[in-house]
Amino acid sequence: MFDATALDRNIDPCVDFYQFSCGNWIKNNPIPPDQSSWGRFNQLSEHNRMVLHDILEKAEKVTPNRSSNEQKIGDYYASCMDEATINQKGVAVLNRDFDLIAALKSKEELPALLGHLHRERINTLFGFDSTPDFKDAKMMIAEADQGGLSLPDKDYYLKTDAKSVEQQKQYVQHVTNMLKLLGDSPEKAAAEADAVMKIETALAKGSMDRVARREPSNVYHKMSAAEWQALTPAFSWPKYLTDVGAPAVTSLNVAVPDFFKALETELKDVSLDDLKTYFRWHVVHAAAATNVLPDAFVNENFEFFSKTLRGAKELQARWKRCVAGVNGDLGEALGEVYVEKNFPPEAKERTLEMVHALEEALRQDITTLPWMTEATKKQALIKLEAIRNKIGYPNKWRDYSSLTIVRGDALGNSLRSNEFEAQRELNKIGKPRDTQEWGMTPPTVNAYYDPTENDINFPAGILQPPFYDFKADDGVNFGGIGAVIGHELTHGFDDEGRQFDKEGNLKDWWTPEDAKAFEERAQCLVKEYDSFVAVDDVHVNGKLTLGENTADNGGLRIADMALQSALEKKPQEKDEKFDGFTEEQRLFLGWGQVWCQNQTDQISRLLALTNEHSPGKNRVNGVVRNMPEFRRAWGCKSGAPMVPENACRVW
Ligand SMILES: [Zn+2]
Repeated sequence: MFDATALDRNIDPCVDFYQFSCGNWIKNNPIPPDQSSWGRFNQLSEHNRMVLHDILEKAEKVTPNRSSNEQKIGDYYASCMDEATINQKGVAVLNRDFDLIAALKSKEELPALLGHLHRERINTLFGFDSTPDFKDAKMMIAEADQGGLSLPDKDYYLKTDAKSVEQQKQYVQHVTNMLKLLGDSPEKAAAEADAVMKIETALAKGSMDRVARREPSNVYHKMSAAEWQALTPAFSWPKYLTDVGAPAVTSLNVAVPDFFKALETELKDVSLDDLKTYFRWHVVHAAAATNVLPDAFVNENFEFFSKTLRGAKELQARWKRCVAGVNGDLGEALGEVYVEKNFPPEAKERTLEMVHALEEALRQDITTLPWMTEATKKQALIKLEAIRNKIGYPNKWRDYSSLTIVRGDALGNSLRSNEFEAQRELNKIGKPRDTQEWGMTPPTVNAYYDPTENDINFPAGILQPPFYDFKADDGVNFGGIGAVIGHELTHGFDDEGRQFDKEGNLKDWWTPEDAKAFEERAQCLVKEYDSFVAVDDVHVNGKLTLGENTADNGGLRIADMALQSALEKKPQEKDEKFDGFTEEQRLFLGWGQVWCQNQTDQISRLLALTNEHSPGKNRVNGVVRNMPEFRRAWGCKSGAPMVPENACRVW
């Protein structure tokens, strides 16, 4: 939804379009104390949260005709809200895990313990899950991957600048505090925290960095179970597979083989006592993050992970954390009610119309692309034609009937939900992929493209203002949801997505000369975004954000093409002005205002290191500077900051 009061009319749009679009919004919308960033996405999420809150307050009332799903979401929520019982129960439910850890007698028993912890989805030492086979995407296979860290990225352990060293000290202090809450003496807890830091630092050293992981071939190493075993002779995988509850595995993807070699060394070097400490820390850390431990644990977790690392000032109200808990653990049971009340069938139809308009624009764009040969264009169009559209919510809802939710047992509910989810994922190994499944819950304010399914997924949560307003004019709708749809479609053709074919298989369909031309054009975006400053001396990482920036640039371009086609059908609107702006100007304003945001310095720093999306300001200015359409629409003169000499263009 275009908001004229958000504009800063003192700024020349050709000088800083983001500031022009959002200046007043930024001034008038400070970050609420319980958040670390605040933008239009967050505003909409807050709205959805209120809707979910209403649903849960009804479902928590015990009535004779509650459905099975209503019982689950209602009792989960009520248990999470029952702070007195949670405080009174303490950490007793975790004793099952603590006892198993304490009973470890030798490292030979590690596979059984890891199997148990991973069934509860406690992130320790490495990751194990099911995944589509990159080379045969119709099938699900097992995957072993790096894991076992608590800080947001391996860099947090390894960087030696003053800020990083300070955060490492603060992290060790946090681990100390948590272990003290479990009853350890201050001296013992401090020594234990050092041991945790040492183990996690070794795992970080063995991990592949985020930029390297964006290259699919870097994380695809299919091997036999015997070859996997040879990487870590000290750790019995057959034993682990039995205890984690996986079906028989004869071959799998070992995403980062070097990580498992480093793990082998680490398992030999570190003492059993230090490993026990590391596991104990992860058990309490995982539980504290779910907000169903006593206040002292939740507050200490907030102090480090939300306040120190992200810059939030206050813990979120309990109901907000509990709504998030239900959405995380029973998302499709909650989402089914949400959709019934908030997503009429017309909304799905209208979104599909919009999707078809954007697909048509991308078709035109590919067809007229100056740098691509006919052979590759033909393949690109075949891939575009095959993209499936998933809009709003899944056709088939998840079946939670085997999951027991008990009123008054908040932590138990959370653990059982984790076990349910772990088993659900492991059950997929060796079976055909269920392409009806969704990776986001219906109320989520977000969307995604999945390269291994070649589909776009738009949850109901994002299909409303400010992204899509049935009552608004085409300009703002194409600049909002239109550009977001364009963004997701373009992901099929970004540096990562372009390596997958129409079936979702990792398979090269490019001529070598077109691949080279693509790389050169993508490199222009890498350089452009590398030059942007996220906060202080921290720059945006052009390589980490390349896929998203490619999608933003392609997305807004094809949204503009789709708008032009729509306007051709109603010429009377083409030159008409709304709020003093033409439809094309409103497209750019729609895009600009989607990204209005305020962020703490702390979260800006964290996101620059870990997030594949650029900051809002760069998502706006970084794109419009590359578009001659923008220049024309706003009458910008060459040499203006929004009209650089070397504009980039991929799609
Ligand atoms: Zn994206």
